[in-house]
Amino acid sequence: MSKPDIYLSTTIPYINGRPHLGHALEFVQADVLARHYRATGHAVRLQSGTDDNSLKNVLAAAAEGTDVADLVSRNSAAFEALAGPLQLSFDDFIRTSSDPRHRPGVERFWRACAARGDLYRKSYQGLYCTGCEQFYRPAELDGGRCPEHGTEPETVSEENWFFRLSRYAGQLKEEITSGRLRIEPAARRHEVLAFIDGGLEDFSASRPASRAGGWGIPVPGDPGQVIYVWWDALGNYITSLGYGDGPEAPEYRRWWAWPGQRIHLVGKGVLRFHAVYWPAMLLSAGLPLPTAIYVHDYLTIGGAKISKSAAGPAARAADPAALTAAYGPDAVRWWLLREVPRTGDADFTPERLVARANEDLANGLGNLVSRVTSMVHRYRDGVVPATGDLATNPDLAAGGPLAAATELGAACQQLPGQIAAALARPDFRAATAAVAALTGQANRCIEDTAPWRLARSAAGGDEAAARQLETVLAVLVAACRTLAAELTPFLPGLAAKAAAACAALSGRLPAPQPLYPRLDAPPAS
Ligand SMILES: [Zn+2]
Repeated sequence: MSKPDIYLSTTIPYINGRPHLGHALEFVQADVLARHYRATGHAVRLQSGTDDNSLKNVLAAAAEGTDVADLVSRNSAAFEALAGPLQLSFDDFIRTSSDPRHRPGVERFWRACAARGDLYRKSYQGLYCTGCEQFYRPAELDGGRCPEHGTEPETVSEENWFFRLSRYAGQLKEEITSGRLRIEPAARRHEVLAFIDGGLEDFSASRPASRAGGWGIPVPGDPGQVIYVWWDALGNYITSLGYGDGPEAPEYRRWWAWPGQRIHLVGKGVLRFHAVYWPAMLLSAGLPLPTAIYVHDYLTIGGAKISKSAAGPAARAADPAALTAAYGPDAVRWWLLREVPRTGDADFTPERLVARANEDLANGLGNLVSRVTSMVHRYRDGVVPATGDLATNPDLAAGGPLAAATELGAACQQLPGQIAAALARPDFRAATAAVAALTGQANRCIEDTAPWRLARSAAGGDEAAARQLETVLAVLVAACRTLAAELTPFLPGLAAKAAAACAALSGRLPAPQPLYPRLDAPPAS
């Protein structure tokens, strides 16, 4: 039976500033899942993009005296260009202001909800944070300030279109508690259910065109209003699939309407939009819901909250493109995957990135591959011993003379399952920890089996030692190959180098080369 298709999306960031390391975290997590599922036989579509139609972009352009379209085009390009240095395997990247698929899809979506009777006009006064593009209830504020931005929201009074969110509380709860819409980790699912239990209020789904500076998608049939930027942005998950061409569009049907997994990766700050507003909008329009929402927490930089507007030295030093230029994509991806916990914020410093890469990639994997390939050259002239099926090798029987190699072989068998289980939660730190643990075990296996001693005995005519040396070398090479294969979704570049170092394409392993050089400590700031 073929495996289900998997549609993966990142959120589409506001682009009133440059990309920061928090964006890189979500992009890399999504890329790992995409690579993992492709490698395990699923058809995968990985999508990202930029949220261009935000009032924030209008304000940022005004502040720097640029045209909004120019600012959006320049900043959107900076986000899309991260795919190179971060080695992201996006299949699609949608820009909501200029992609011809987007506006017709948003309009169709609006009309579908209007036809259900879920959109109505109402005069409204509320507290609005432009940073969030969101109205807040007074009780949700932190001492009168936005909990995300720490700024005082402005009082806005206007007539808007409202969406009947209140109508969908029961259905949403049922979708989430039944597990048809999975929200991970569990604490975030509980948070969403508590929010629904607190009572859902209809939300404002449009803005007067005048307040939006004329930027955005006009409400169909009411050009004095533009569609709320969140409504517009959330729509990207289906407009990119051709929903605007009609629900029978092939891409739409394949990735959204047919059985399969539809997974959104989101930051904790936009959970409500993705787990409450968006599914309710889909229910209203009669469309299928996402099957899972994976929520990550935030990064801090040297103890301080990341803010796109902060152009201080710490934020510049943590620019993802600058980091990959200084330390390479492997070190940056590895830090994001190996150090950021599943729950709780993580603090980034360049020192931590360097220390992690040196420990795991230079001393761990690099050292292992170089020792193993060197021994194969020293003792076997580069030819990997042909020992037959290691599973039935008598030297590897339980309680045999090569206990460490026996255990290493068993651990290699378990690694793919451990990684698949961790990524299904998803827990990227657990998955990369499993890779690092097996690497450490393989390095210890070299100490424990001491192939150099076996080689000396073999040279003295000990036939059992000669056979055991071959077995140990075969197990170690197999372990390196397993590690290279399993590392691929996480560090595609380094994994390919490791695989090449262990591939006997012309009968012999290539001459040993350093796999991963130690990184220098970052310059003192
Ligand atoms: Zn805010």
